[in-house]
Amino acid sequence: MMKVAVIGSGIGGLSSAIRLAKLGLKVSVFEANEFVGGKVNEQWLGSYRFDMGPSVFTEPELIEELLTLVNKDKSVFPYRRLEESCRYFFEDGQQVVVPSGMEKVAETFQTAFGESSSRTFRFLNRLSRNYQALYPVFIEASLHRRKQWMNRGIWKAIARIPFYGMTTSMSKVNRRQFKNPKSAQLLNRMATYNGSSPYRTPGLLNIISHLELNEGPAMPVGGMARISQTLHQLCLELGVTFYLGERVEEIRHDNQQVTGIRTTKQDFPCELVVSNMDVHFTYERLLKGLHYPAKILNQEKSSSAIVFYWGMKTNFDQLGVHNIFFAKDYRAEFDSIFKTKTCFADPTIYVHITSKVEKADAPEEGENWFVMVNAPINVGQDWDEFVSQTRQSCIAKLSKALGKDIAPYIEVEAHTDPRKIEAVYFGKQGSIYGNSSNSAFSAFYRHPNFSKTLKGLYFAGVTVHPGGGIPLALNSAKIVARCVKEDFHLS
Ligand SMILES: Cc1cc2nc3c(=O)[nH]c(=O)nc-3n(C[C@H](O)[C@H](O)[C@H](O)COP(=O)(O)OP(=O)(O)OC[C@H]3O[C@@H](n4cnc5c(N)ncnc54)[C@H](O)[C@@H]3O)c2cc1C
Repeated sequence: MMKVAVIGSGIGGLSSAIRLAKLGLKVSVFEANEFVGGKVNEQWLGSYRFDMGPSVFTEPELIEELLTLVNKDKSVFPYRRLEESCRYFFEDGQQVVVPSGMEKVAETFQTAFGESSSRTFRFLNRLSRNYQALYPVFIEASLHRRKQWMNRGIWKAIARIPFYGMTTSMSKVNRRQFKNPKSAQLLNRMATYNGSSPYRTPGLLNIISHLELNEGPAMPVGGMARISQTLHQLCLELGVTFYLGERVEEIRHDNQQVTGIRTTKQDFPCELVVSNMDVHFTYERLLKGLHYPAKILNQEKSSSAIVFYWGMKTNFDQLGVHNIFFAKDYRAEFDSIFKTKTCFADPTIYVHITSKVEKADAPEEGENWFVMVNAPINVGQDWDEFVSQTRQSCIAKLSKALGKDIAPYIEVEAHTDPRKIEAVYFGKQGSIYGNSSNSAFSAFYRHPNFSKTLKGLYFAGVTVHPGGGIPLALNSAKIVARCVKEDFHLS
């Protein structure tokens, strides 16, 4: 039986392990941390539970697809669809609750922003059709293997090229579409879901709004960490072995063929390796001496984040599960993230509160606030100073918007910043998604899901094709399994 070493137990690593074990391979997962799940992990601070990384969950069907693959009932992964996609707080005091679903969103844009509901509906419908057209050729297929993307869907995808907005920025597409700048700002926010700037990323990326607005976010019962816990359990049932607290230091190869890995504790011979670690570090740390694909790896990096985890000892009725407090000058905020790489004085703040629906996540008279602002990557800035400034800005802005000083209600707290994202999850310079999508061609500058130099080496996770976010990491694993099947003639 062929042996596989998966490096990293993030969503891309776990889902690769499931798919390869299902193909009959002997799979072992090596994880540097003592916990499974990568960024999808949870922690308790006193009596408050926090999801430490992702909070917006779309396409739960992809988890169900894995359950079906291993003949498990979908009920082992319960989740709820949220009726509200997000609550928005604008600087002028306007508050808008945006529901999930195309028709309801269109109506809300009419009442809140004065947009024509039929025009908004047509736009959202166009995004939905773009998404459906791109899915089979771009999202669940390798862009680097003709026989994968050259399928029946290709003509539909080509026919829709004029509707993607590939050569125009997301922000320009949205300003053209909507008369109220607030509607455009709301749509522009979706660029941050893959760590990019709406003023530079192509309009094509508006398809993210299809998932957020048309389909609406879901929430696993028990929180986001249930995603990695469910995948981990499936791995165990399929006989996957886990080596926790064991960092991989080298991918061994001979004659352009993978021969094994060396970890901090052992030499492990194997025919196949799937790297779920940041692709930059895979080359820089594990493949020293191998050709470095500089054109791909030297692209501008995606943004990072500062997150405060605040246990609040009171309830805030104005807030929902997902809340955004917009910056007044959105463009200046992205300039600060990508150009000057500094901390912005009036950042857009995202507040996520699972205890709004998961009552066990906080005491009855309290809430678990995950407070996030987008941040530049780590290039040696004074992060202690930035974190302290950002904490003050968040408290001031949220207190103003909510009409009371929130500081006295913070009972317990912790935080994450780009240094920690780099140290704990091994993200290059703390970037969350590897390369940014800040150019029209960035999709073509993501690393393939397989190595062109070493037979038996594959890549899954958000730093490679098809890109950032949990759904795409799950699809990267699907592509890895397809490539392995093709390369080793497995059925
Ligand atoms: C603050 C924050 C907010 C986010 N919000 C969202 C969101 O709302 N929605 C969303 O879909 N996504 C979000 N993301 C991104 C999300 O975390 C990823 O899309 C998802 O977790 C998939 O990650 P991955 O498979 O690339 O693996 P990762 O989670 O990056 O895991 C990689 C694993 O590899 C391990 N590893 C690295 N090097 C080695 C080595 N040498 N040896 C052994 N192990 C190694 C690491 O320890 C880690 O466990 C967010 C991320 C952050 C940080």
